[in-house]
Amino acid sequence: MEYAEVAVDAPVGAPRTFSYHVPERFPVEPGQLVWVPFGRRVAQGIVFKLAASPQVEVTRDILQPVEPSPLLDWKALRIGEWMARYYLCPLFDALALFLPPEFKAQVRAVVRVGDRLDATPGTSDGEGAVVLAELAQRGEMAEAEFAKFFTRGGARTVNRLIERGVIQRRVELPRPGRFRYECYLIPGGGFGFPELASKAAEGLPERQARLLTAVGQGNQPYPRTLANKEFGGNAAEALVGKGLLAQEWLRVEGTFPREEGVKSRLGELTLTTAQKNAAERIARGFSETSRGAKTFLLHGVTGSGKTEVYLRAIEEAVRRGKQAIFLVPEISLTPQTVERVGARFPGRVAVLHSGQRPREKFDQWWAIRDGKYDVVVGPRSALFAPLPEVGLIVIDEEHEWTYKQQDAQPRYHARTTALEMARLDKSVVVLGSATPDVETFNEASRGRHVLLNLPRRVALLPAEYEGRGSIGSDQDQSGGIVAVERGELAAAEICDMREELRQGNRSIFSRALSQGLRECTGKGQQAILFLNRRGSAPIVQCRDCGYVAHCSSCSVSLTFHSADGRLVCHRCNRRTRLPRECRECGGSRIRQLGIGTQRVVEEIRELLPGVSVERWDADATRSGLAPEEPMGRLARGETRVLVGTQMVAKGLDVPNVTLVGVVLADVGMNLPDFRAGERTFGLLCQVAGRAGRGTEPGRVVIQTYAPEHYAVAAAAAQDYLALYRWEIEARREQGNPPFNRLVHMVYQHTNRTTCQRNTSALAREFRERRGRGGLSDVEVIGPAPGIPERVRGQYRWHMTLRGRNLHRFLEGVTLGNGWAVDVDPVQVT
Ligand code: ADP
Ligand code: ZN
Repeated sequence: MEYAEVAVDAPVGAPRTFSYHVPERFPVEPGQLVWVPFGRRVAQGIVFKLAASPQVEVTRDILQPVEPSPLLDWKALRIGEWMARYYLCPLFDALALFLPPEFKAQVRAVVRVGDRLDATPGTSDGEGAVVLAELAQRGEMAEAEFAKFFTRGGARTVNRLIERGVIQRRVELPRPGRFRYECYLIPGGGFGFPELASKAAEGLPERQARLLTAVGQGNQPYPRTLANKEFGGNAAEALVGKGLLAQEWLRVEGTFPREEGVKSRLGELTLTTAQKNAAERIARGFSETSRGAKTFLLHGVTGSGKTEVYLRAIEEAVRRGKQAIFLVPEISLTPQTVERVGARFPGRVAVLHSGQRPREKFDQWWAIRDGKYDVVVGPRSALFAPLPEVGLIVIDEEHEWTYKQQDAQPRYHARTTALEMARLDKSVVVLGSATPDVETFNEASRGRHVLLNLPRRVALLPAEYEGRGSIGSDQDQSGGIVAVERGELAAAEICDMREELRQGNRSIFSRALSQGLRECTGKGQQAILFLNRRGSAPIVQCRDCGYVAHCSSCSVSLTFHSADGRLVCHRCNRRTRLPRECRECGGSRIRQLGIGTQRVVEEIRELLPGVSVERWDADATRSGLAPEEPMGRLARGETRVLVGTQMVAKGLDVPNVTLVGVVLADVGMNLPDFRAGERTFGLLCQVAGRAGRGTEPGRVVIQTYAPEHYAVAAAAAQDYLALYRWEIEARREQGNPPFNRLVHMVYQHTNRTTCQRNTSALAREFRERRGRGGLSDVEVIGPAPGIPERVRGQYRWHMTLRGRNLHRFLEGVTLGNGWAVDVDPVQVT
């Protein structure tokens, strides 16, 4: 086939391809990464399919393959196509997720003085002549640099000069991957190696003839570096220009360093009854995939042994000669889980994480593709690892928002995408969580996923505990230790902070929490305090006139950070001094309102002198703290009280932590987002789950000003079903997911009026479209200013579509610059 439909790396509104002619010099296959001319530039593209005829009359040639063989297989092409359509983004952006790291690149254009010496520069003011003289002297320059010589309209002038033949442009196609690539010369124009010798006899300049002969005699790709050395770079370039030779970048095989993780294969645990049932059900699922994907929701409280069930599922996949993908919300926060997977399959687990150097990532990608691993563990992007035959996808903590890409296209959800992949592959998916996403649980309750339960914690008790305090369903003995399902999660109590105030307690700690802290640390045990807000005080206000300090480029109030004595914007991180006097009235009575993690640490120091306290939040991380440090110090007992934001809610499994305090549950609970309650519940449950993981019972104190709030009440009771029932009813009443879909659209601009005007215009268009299309169930919510309205100097206005068939509604709609579209948003502020 002579033509190719190519997904081009360009900001095209719709998921479309462009037609190119395939030159005879090289074959092209679907999934191959190529360079193509696009408008005035050269861009990367992915060959989507081959075609006998083009979509348009005039086509241009594909310039050159980036990699001689396809990088995407047919499944990747199908999933990419699905993603582009579903998430409304350019096809290339979706397909590019499957490319090896470092492959996406941009070309560099260089210019030099042209052959047409007679041509006049054609610039009016004589500037052109000076500039051209400079270029002639330098020989060759990057186009972007050259354009800067002109005082005005550089890019346009350069284009004009090129059209007139005054200067020439040459594009340099960058080498992919930067590392292990070498350029080779191969016969061009469809000849074979043996024919090159006869071509050499056709009156070529001497060096070129000798090079051509050498390539022909070698009968295999000839290194370009060698050609340059022996015959000069010009000879090779001339022959490529004449089409007698072509260039090819070939990957150089290197030795691959195997990860030598934990050496011994960990002894397998004896499963509890609930674990065994779940594992067996999943194993059966593998045999049921002949008709399509088999998906499971593993609902198990924190510490119920979900990881062990995942591991058994992976073993089953591997036993069937397939591979598994294991997704975690964030690698650095779940080291224990990652370690356990690595230990179970020594040397067969590839872990993808942000700390890897590009070279490592690059090598790992090829090793995964070559089938050197059975399991790939990583964050959402690990879904796109090039495993030859995926039989299982595990998504741990499936409710986590980190599975949704929010800041760049495609704004995909890893769970939704994994389910789609499984449908195509006929594979197994296991979603696991202590607090499943309401939508996932709803799907399970409607039979889309098989629901598996691990209702109780696993406790490891010394043998003499046998029979005491356990529900005793199974107590298989292994070396004096028994694993049992123990009923209790840590008991949680709610502290009404309004009541504390009434009783004259003005401290940030309730009496119950301060007493609990004293007791816990007094006994040599440890505590975790959770507060989902950094800094010392989120509001700094003048007592006299009420003025509140705000960021100058975001519409949010500034938070005071006592650690460095500054006011910090939590949106753009701008830092300023704490003003001595009010900017409005000049008054000097400035007060700090509210609390953050820094303030909690200070209060602990006062309450418990001499007790070691550590703060772990984004500020600490930003100042270079690696997650292993606070985790390690807590695990070794060096930190007695750990204070932190969300980070302390995840992954920590320290048996000596017996007290968890939620300093203020209300933070974030009242955001105007219908998922605020669900999210608060999830966080509270997770953080509560950190307490009492050892033999000592745990205690959880939740402080709040809204004790009657359903999310707080359900979290204190660790009652997921209560939350679910409340939440699903509210969603049904309001028409929110899962009863409808949402598409969230944000428009950003430095000018507020432009924002308002453009969003209103689109809303009007949508309302008309609704009438015309007979899609009256589609609701247009907004437009309204975003929350916050201004970030980094850009105003944000937003609008939400709600309905069942939004893809049909949006068919043919293209949004201009400045719009960000988010299908199935997890956040609608
Ligand atoms: P979850 O992922 O549900 O929070 P984990 O898988 O981390 O729970 O298990 C909690 C703890 O119980 C871990 O320390 C784990 O090693 C242990 N554990 C799980 N299952 C068993 C079992 N069958 N026998 C002994 N210990 C177990
Ligand atoms: Zn700001």
